[in-house]
Amino acid sequence: MSGDFSDYRGVWVFLEAKDGRIAPVSLELLGAGRRLADKRKTELAGVLIGDGVTALAGTAFEYGADTVYAYDAPIYKHYRTETYMKALFACIEKYKPEIVLFGATSTGKDLASAVATDLPTGLTADTTILDVEEDTGLLLASRPAFGGNIMATILCKKYRPQMATVRPKVMKSLAPEPGRQGKLIPEAIPLREEDVRTKVLDIVRSTAPRVRIDEADVIVAGGKGLGSAAGFQLLHQLAGVLGAAVGASRDVVEAGWIGHHHQVGQTGVTVTPKIYFAIGISGAIQHIVGMQNSGLIIAINKDPAAPIFQSCHYGIVGDAFEIVPLMIEQFKKALGKEDVQHA
Ligand code: FAD
Repeated sequence: MSGDFSDYRGVWVFLEAKDGRIAPVSLELLGAGRRLADKRKTELAGVLIGDGVTALAGTAFEYGADTVYAYDAPIYKHYRTETYMKALFACIEKYKPEIVLFGATSTGKDLASAVATDLPTGLTADTTILDVEEDTGLLLASRPAFGGNIMATILCKKYRPQMATVRPKVMKSLAPEPGRQGKLIPEAIPLREEDVRTKVLDIVRSTAPRVRIDEADVIVAGGKGLGSAAGFQLLHQLAGVLGAAVGASRDVVEAGWIGHHHQVGQTGVTVTPKIYFAIGISGAIQHIVGMQNSGLIIAINKDPAAPIFQSCHYGIVGDAFEIVPLMIEQFKKALGKEDVQHA
Protein backbone atom coordinates (compact mmCIF):
# COMPACT_ATOMS: atom_id res chain seq x y z
CA MET A 1 0.00 0.00 0.00
CA SER A 2 1.33 3.44 -0.78
CA GLY A 3 0.09 6.75 -2.11
CA ASP A 4 -3.64 7.38 -2.31
CA PHE A 5 -5.21 7.33 1.14
CA SER A 6 -8.30 9.34 0.27
CA ASP A 7 -10.59 6.48 1.38
CA TYR A 8 -9.19 6.66 4.91
CA ARG A 9 -10.99 9.06 7.23
CA GLY A 10 -11.49 9.54 10.92
CA VAL A 11 -9.59 9.12 14.15
CA TRP A 12 -10.37 6.03 16.21
CA VAL A 13 -9.74 4.98 19.77
CA PHE A 14 -9.92 1.37 20.96
CA LEU A 15 -12.12 1.66 24.05
CA GLU A 16 -10.84 -0.87 26.55
CA ALA A 17 -13.76 -2.04 28.67
CA LYS A 18 -13.06 -3.74 31.96
CA ASP A 19 -15.20 -4.44 35.01
CA GLY A 20 -18.14 -2.51 33.58
CA ARG A 21 -16.29 0.70 32.79
CA ILE A 22 -14.11 2.21 30.09
CA ALA A 23 -10.45 2.22 31.14
CA PRO A 24 -9.22 5.71 32.12
CA VAL A 25 -6.50 5.57 29.44
CA SER A 26 -9.18 5.17 26.74
CA LEU A 27 -10.94 8.31 28.01
CA GLU A 28 -7.60 10.12 27.91
CA LEU A 29 -7.16 8.97 24.33
CA LEU A 30 -10.62 10.30 23.43
CA GLY A 31 -9.32 13.69 24.63
CA ALA A 32 -6.18 13.39 22.49
CA GLY A 33 -8.16 11.94 19.57
CA ARG A 34 -10.69 14.79 19.70
CA ARG A 35 -7.86 17.29 19.21
CA LEU A 36 -6.46 15.34 16.25
CA ALA A 37 -9.89 14.84 14.68
CA ASP A 38 -10.75 18.55 14.99
CA LYS A 39 -7.44 19.49 13.38
CA ARG A 40 -8.19 17.11 10.49
CA LYS A 41 -11.86 18.21 10.41
CA THR A 42 -12.90 14.62 10.68
CA GLU A 43 -14.85 12.50 13.15
CA LEU A 44 -13.69 10.80 16.32
CA ALA A 45 -14.90 7.25 16.79
CA GLY A 46 -14.45 4.61 19.47
CA VAL A 47 -14.54 0.84 19.14
CA LEU A 48 -16.02 -1.13 22.02
CA ILE A 49 -15.58 -4.89 22.18
CA GLY A 50 -16.95 -7.05 24.98
CA ASP A 51 -19.99 -8.71 26.46
CA GLY A 52 -22.59 -6.20 27.62
CA VAL A 53 -20.50 -3.19 26.64
CA THR A 54 -22.97 -1.28 24.48
CA ALA A 55 -24.18 0.71 27.48
CA LEU A 56 -20.71 2.21 27.81
CA ALA A 57 -21.09 4.07 24.51
CA GLY A 58 -22.78 6.93 26.36
CA THR A 59 -19.63 7.50 28.41
CA ALA A 60 -17.58 7.61 25.21
CA PHE A 61 -19.90 10.25 23.73
CA GLU A 62 -19.65 12.35 26.88
CA TYR A 63 -15.85 12.22 26.63
CA GLY A 64 -15.76 13.35 23.00
CA ALA A 65 -16.57 10.46 20.63
CA ASP A 66 -18.91 11.19 17.70
CA THR A 67 -19.47 7.53 16.85
CA VAL A 68 -19.07 4.22 18.65
CA TYR A 69 -18.81 0.87 16.86
CA ALA A 70 -19.85 -1.86 19.29
CA TYR A 71 -19.08 -5.59 19.05
CA ASP A 72 -21.21 -6.86 21.90
CA ALA A 73 -21.46 -10.65 22.25
CA PRO A 74 -20.68 -13.39 24.82
CA ILE A 75 -17.71 -14.52 22.73
CA TYR A 76 -15.95 -11.26 23.72
CA LYS A 77 -16.55 -11.71 27.47
CA HIS A 78 -12.85 -12.19 28.18
CA TYR A 79 -10.08 -10.53 26.23
CA ARG A 80 -8.56 -12.96 23.76
CA THR A 81 -6.20 -11.74 21.07
CA GLU A 82 -7.87 -13.81 18.37
CA THR A 83 -11.48 -12.68 18.88
CA TYR A 84 -10.73 -9.01 19.53
CA MET A 85 -8.27 -8.86 16.68
CA LYS A 86 -10.78 -10.33 14.23
CA ALA A 87 -13.47 -7.84 15.28
CA LEU A 88 -11.21 -4.81 15.14
CA PHE A 89 -9.58 -5.94 11.91
CA ALA A 90 -13.01 -6.30 10.26
CA CYS A 91 -14.09 -2.89 11.51
CA ILE A 92 -10.93 -1.21 10.20
CA GLU A 93 -11.29 -2.94 6.82
CA LYS A 94 -14.93 -1.83 6.60
CA TYR A 95 -14.65 1.82 7.65
CA LYS A 96 -10.98 2.65 6.95
CA PRO A 97 -9.93 5.07 9.70
CA GLU A 98 -6.76 7.09 9.11
CA ILE A 99 -5.57 6.86 12.73
CA VAL A 100 -6.19 4.25 15.46
CA LEU A 101 -5.03 4.79 19.05
CA PHE A 102 -4.70 2.23 21.84
CA GLY A 103 -3.82 2.51 25.52
CA ALA A 104 -0.41 0.99 26.21
CA THR A 105 -1.93 -1.48 28.66
CA SER A 106 -1.25 -5.20 28.43
CA THR A 107 -4.48 -5.61 26.41
CA GLY A 108 -3.89 -2.54 24.22
CA LYS A 109 -0.30 -3.46 23.43
CA ASP A 110 -1.22 -7.04 22.60
CA LEU A 111 -4.18 -6.09 20.40
CA ALA A 112 -2.44 -3.24 18.59
CA SER A 113 0.55 -5.34 17.61
CA ALA A 114 -1.66 -8.21 16.43
CA VAL A 115 -3.86 -5.91 14.31
CA ALA A 116 -0.85 -4.03 12.90
CA THR A 117 0.68 -7.33 11.81
CA ASP A 118 -2.48 -8.55 10.13
CA LEU A 119 -3.40 -5.36 8.30
CA PRO A 120 -0.36 -4.80 7.75
CA THR A 121 0.60 -1.33 8.89
CA GLY A 122 3.02 0.43 11.21
CA LEU A 123 2.64 0.85 14.96
CA THR A 124 4.41 3.31 17.23
CA ALA A 125 4.62 1.98 20.78
CA ASP A 126 4.55 3.98 24.01
CA THR A 127 3.91 7.35 22.41
CA THR A 128 4.02 10.35 24.74
CA ILE A 129 3.15 13.19 22.32
CA LEU A 130 0.63 13.03 19.47
CA ASP A 131 0.03 15.53 16.72
CA VAL A 132 -1.19 15.43 13.14
CA GLU A 133 -0.27 17.35 10.00
CA GLU A 134 -3.44 19.20 9.13
CA ASP A 135 -3.11 18.94 5.36
CA THR A 136 -1.45 15.53 4.83
CA GLY A 137 -3.03 13.72 7.78
CA LEU A 138 0.35 12.32 8.81
CA LEU A 139 0.33 11.29 12.46
CA LEU A 140 3.34 12.63 14.35
CA ALA A 141 3.86 10.09 17.14
CA SER A 142 6.70 11.08 19.45
CA ARG A 143 8.31 8.95 22.12
CA PRO A 144 11.56 8.82 24.09
CA ALA A 145 14.27 6.85 22.29
CA PHE A 146 17.83 5.73 22.94
CA GLY A 147 17.40 5.35 26.68
CA GLY A 148 15.27 8.47 26.96
CA ASN A 149 18.03 10.77 25.76
CA ILE A 150 16.19 11.98 22.67
CA MET A 151 12.58 12.29 21.54
CA ALA A 152 11.92 10.53 18.24
CA THR A 153 8.93 11.47 16.07
CA ILE A 154 7.78 8.43 14.12
CA LEU A 155 5.77 8.67 10.90
CA CYS A 156 3.93 5.98 8.98
CA LYS A 157 4.03 7.38 5.46
CA LYS A 158 3.22 4.37 3.32
CA TYR A 159 0.44 2.52 5.13
CA ARG A 160 -2.95 3.18 6.64
CA PRO A 161 -4.26 3.31 9.25
CA GLN A 162 -1.53 4.93 11.30
CA MET A 163 -1.49 3.29 14.71
CA ALA A 164 0.00 4.14 18.09
CA THR A 165 -0.16 2.97 21.67
CA VAL A 166 -0.08 5.64 24.37
CA ARG A 167 0.78 5.17 28.01
CA PRO A 168 -1.83 5.79 30.69
CA LYS A 169 -1.75 9.23 32.30
CA VAL A 170 0.23 10.90 29.53
CA MET A 171 -2.74 12.48 27.70
CA LYS A 172 -5.54 14.42 29.33
CA SER A 173 -9.19 13.44 29.02
CA LEU A 174 -11.74 16.14 28.29
CA ALA A 175 -14.17 17.19 30.99
CA PRO A 176 -17.23 14.99 30.35
CA GLU A 177 -20.19 16.74 28.77
CA PRO A 178 -23.25 15.11 30.39
CA GLY A 179 -25.95 14.23 27.89
CA ARG A 180 -23.68 14.63 24.83
CA GLN A 181 -25.00 12.28 22.15
CA GLY A 182 -23.34 10.34 19.37
CA LYS A 183 -23.99 7.65 16.79
CA LEU A 184 -23.99 4.07 18.05
CA ILE A 185 -23.34 1.47 15.35
CA PRO A 186 -23.74 -2.16 16.46
CA GLU A 187 -21.36 -4.43 14.55
CA ALA A 188 -20.94 -8.19 14.31
CA ILE A 189 -18.79 -10.68 12.50
CA PRO A 190 -19.43 -14.41 12.03
CA LEU A 191 -17.34 -15.87 14.85
CA ARG A 192 -18.09 -19.19 16.55
CA GLU A 193 -16.64 -20.32 19.85
CA GLU A 194 -15.58 -23.66 18.32
CA ASP A 195 -13.39 -21.78 15.83
CA VAL A 196 -11.46 -19.91 18.52
CA ARG A 197 -8.23 -21.61 19.54
CA THR A 198 -7.81 -19.96 22.95
CA LYS A 199 -10.15 -20.91 25.79
CA VAL A 200 -10.45 -19.16 29.13
CA LEU A 201 -10.84 -22.01 31.61
CA ASP A 202 -10.52 -20.09 34.83
CA ILE A 203 -9.42 -16.72 36.12
CA VAL A 204 -7.16 -16.80 39.17
CA ARG A 205 -6.79 -13.39 40.75
CA SER A 206 -3.51 -12.55 42.44
CA THR A 207 -3.82 -12.68 46.21
CA ALA A 208 -1.09 -10.04 46.64
CA PRO A 209 -2.59 -6.62 47.32
CA ARG A 210 -2.84 -4.94 43.93
CA VAL A 211 -1.36 -1.48 44.15
CA ARG A 212 -2.40 0.66 41.23
CA ILE A 213 0.48 3.09 41.13
CA ASP A 214 -0.92 4.62 37.95
CA GLU A 215 -4.03 5.73 39.85
CA ALA A 216 -2.48 6.71 43.22
CA ASP A 217 -2.49 10.28 44.51
CA VAL A 218 0.57 9.68 46.65
CA ILE A 219 3.46 7.37 45.78
CA VAL A 220 6.34 6.45 48.05
CA ALA A 221 9.01 5.10 45.70
CA GLY A 222 12.27 3.50 46.70
CA GLY A 223 15.54 2.61 45.03
CA LYS A 224 18.66 0.57 45.62
CA GLY A 225 19.63 3.04 48.33
CA LEU A 226 17.31 1.08 50.67
CA GLY A 227 19.98 -1.63 50.62
CA SER A 228 17.87 -4.80 50.80
CA ALA A 229 14.37 -6.22 50.63
CA ALA A 230 14.20 -5.82 54.42
CA GLY A 231 15.28 -2.16 54.17
CA PHE A 232 12.60 -1.63 51.53
CA GLN A 233 9.93 -2.56 54.10
CA LEU A 234 10.46 0.88 55.61
CA LEU A 235 8.75 2.33 52.56
CA HIS A 236 5.73 0.08 53.03
CA GLN A 237 5.39 1.50 56.53
CA LEU A 238 5.53 5.07 55.29
CA ALA A 239 3.09 4.24 52.50
CA GLY A 240 0.73 2.63 55.01
CA VAL A 241 0.64 5.76 57.14
CA LEU A 242 0.06 8.00 54.12
CA GLY A 243 -2.38 5.67 52.37
CA ALA A 244 0.07 5.77 49.46
CA ALA A 245 1.07 3.27 46.78
CA VAL A 246 4.63 1.93 46.73
CA GLY A 247 6.74 2.56 43.64
CA ALA A 248 10.22 1.33 42.80
CA SER A 249 13.15 1.80 40.48
CA ARG A 250 13.95 -0.92 37.98
CA ASP A 251 17.01 -2.03 39.91
CA VAL A 252 14.82 -2.76 42.93
CA VAL A 253 12.41 -4.81 40.81
CA GLU A 254 15.29 -6.69 39.23
CA ALA A 255 16.67 -7.42 42.69
CA GLY A 256 13.31 -9.04 43.49
CA TRP A 257 12.45 -6.74 46.40
CA ILE A 258 9.06 -5.94 44.89
CA GLY A 259 6.94 -6.98 41.86
CA HIS A 260 7.22 -5.49 38.39
CA HIS A 261 3.89 -3.68 38.48
CA HIS A 262 5.46 -1.29 41.04
CA GLN A 263 8.20 -0.18 38.64
CA VAL A 264 8.13 3.45 37.62
CA GLY A 265 9.87 4.61 34.48
CA GLN A 266 10.54 4.04 30.85
CA THR A 267 10.09 0.29 31.00
CA GLY A 268 7.66 0.47 33.89
CA VAL A 269 4.61 2.62 34.56
CA THR A 270 4.24 6.36 33.93
CA VAL A 271 2.76 8.01 37.01
CA THR A 272 1.42 11.48 37.81
CA PRO A 273 0.49 11.46 41.51
CA LYS A 274 -0.03 14.64 43.48
CA ILE A 275 3.01 13.75 45.63
CA TYR A 276 5.94 11.51 44.69
CA PHE A 277 8.57 10.56 47.25
CA ALA A 278 11.81 9.32 45.63
CA ILE A 279 13.81 7.66 48.38
CA GLY A 280 17.27 6.22 47.71
CA ILE A 281 16.71 6.63 43.98
CA SER A 282 19.59 8.12 42.00
CA GLY A 283 17.43 9.76 39.33
CA ALA A 284 18.44 7.98 36.11
CA ILE A 285 16.69 9.42 33.05
CA GLN A 286 14.80 6.15 32.55
CA HIS A 287 13.24 6.63 35.99
CA ILE A 288 12.66 10.37 35.62
CA VAL A 289 10.60 9.99 32.40
CA GLY A 290 8.09 7.93 34.34
CA MET A 291 7.46 10.38 37.20
CA GLN A 292 8.53 13.85 36.11
CA ASN A 293 4.95 15.09 35.72
CA SER A 294 4.07 14.41 39.36
CA GLY A 295 2.58 17.39 41.19
CA LEU A 296 5.20 17.56 43.95
CA ILE A 297 8.43 15.56 43.95
CA ILE A 298 10.31 15.09 47.22
CA ALA A 299 13.68 13.35 47.04
CA ILE A 300 15.72 11.82 49.83
CA ASN A 301 19.25 10.79 48.98
CA LYS A 302 22.47 10.73 50.92
CA ASP A 303 24.50 11.89 47.92
CA PRO A 304 24.09 15.66 47.42
CA ALA A 305 25.24 15.24 43.80
CA ALA A 306 22.57 12.63 42.94
CA PRO A 307 20.79 13.60 39.69
CA ILE A 308 17.37 13.19 41.37
CA PHE A 309 17.96 16.58 43.01
CA GLN A 310 17.77 18.17 39.53
CA SER A 311 14.25 16.83 39.10
CA CYS A 312 12.60 17.40 42.48
CA HIS A 313 10.75 20.27 44.10
CA TYR A 314 12.16 19.50 47.58
CA GLY A 315 15.32 17.57 48.30
CA ILE A 316 16.55 16.16 51.60
CA VAL A 317 20.22 15.17 51.71
CA GLY A 318 20.57 12.42 54.25
CA ASP A 319 20.29 8.77 55.18
CA ALA A 320 16.86 7.29 54.41
CA PHE A 321 17.14 5.08 57.49
CA GLU A 322 17.31 8.15 59.70
CA ILE A 323 14.84 10.34 57.82
CA VAL A 324 12.04 7.91 56.92
CA PRO A 325 11.41 6.72 60.52
CA LEU A 326 11.14 10.38 61.56
CA MET A 327 8.69 11.01 58.72
CA ILE A 328 6.60 8.00 59.76
CA GLU A 329 6.48 9.27 63.33
CA GLN A 330 5.60 12.84 62.32
CA PHE A 331 2.98 11.84 59.73
CA LYS A 332 1.35 9.50 62.25
CA LYS A 333 1.05 12.39 64.68
CA ALA A 334 -0.17 14.84 62.06
CA LEU A 335 -2.71 12.39 60.64
CA GLY A 336 -3.84 11.09 64.03
CA LYS A 337 -2.68 7.55 63.21
CA GLU A 338 -0.42 6.94 66.14
CA ASP A 339 -1.95 3.54 66.80
CA VAL A 340 -1.51 2.29 63.21
CA GLN A 341 0.51 -0.95 63.11
CA HIS A 342 2.33 -2.12 60.00
CA ALA A 343 4.06 -5.35 59.17
P1 FAD B 1 21.08 3.48 41.97
O1 FAD B 1 21.33 4.16 40.70
O2 FAD B 1 22.07 2.47 42.46
O3 FAD B 1 20.88 4.59 43.07
C1 FAD B 1 20.78 4.38 44.45
C2 FAD B 1 20.77 5.74 45.11
O4 FAD B 1 20.54 5.59 46.49
C3 FAD B 1 22.09 6.52 44.97
O5 FAD B 1 21.82 7.80 44.42
C4 FAD B 1 22.61 6.61 46.39
O6 FAD B 1 23.26 7.85 46.65
C5 FAD B 1 21.34 6.51 47.19
N1 FAD B 1 21.53 5.95 48.54
C6 FAD B 1 22.32 4.92 48.93
N2 FAD B 1 22.15 4.66 50.24
C7 FAD B 1 21.23 5.57 50.70
C8 FAD B 1 20.65 5.83 51.96
N3 FAD B 1 20.95 5.07 53.06
N4 FAD B 1 19.78 6.84 52.06
C9 FAD B 1 19.47 7.62 51.01
N5 FAD B 1 19.98 7.41 49.76
C10 FAD B 1 20.86 6.41 49.62
N6 FAD B 1 15.09 2.41 35.84
C11 FAD B 1 13.91 2.69 36.41
O7 FAD B 1 13.83 3.08 37.58
N7 FAD B 1 12.75 2.53 35.70
C12 FAD B 1 12.75 2.12 34.41
O8 FAD B 1 11.67 1.97 33.83
C13 FAD B 1 14.00 1.86 33.77
N8 FAD B 1 14.06 1.48 32.48
C14 FAD B 1 15.29 1.32 31.90
C15 FAD B 1 15.35 1.04 30.53
C16 FAD B 1 16.59 0.90 29.92
C17 FAD B 1 16.64 0.61 28.46
C18 FAD B 1 17.78 1.03 30.68
C19 FAD B 1 19.11 0.89 30.02
C20 FAD B 1 17.71 1.29 32.03
C21 FAD B 1 16.48 1.45 32.66
N9 FAD B 1 16.38 1.72 34.02
C22 FAD B 1 15.17 2.00 34.56
C23 FAD B 1 17.56 1.64 34.93
C24 FAD B 1 18.16 3.00 35.25
O9 FAD B 1 19.09 3.34 34.25
C25 FAD B 1 18.89 2.95 36.60
O10 FAD B 1 19.84 1.93 36.56
C26 FAD B 1 17.95 2.73 37.79
O11 FAD B 1 16.86 3.62 37.75
C27 FAD B 1 18.74 2.96 39.07
O12 FAD B 1 17.99 2.54 40.15
P2 FAD B 1 18.22 3.17 41.59
O13 FAD B 1 18.11 4.64 41.52
O14 FAD B 1 17.34 2.43 42.52
O15 FAD B 1 19.72 2.69 41.95
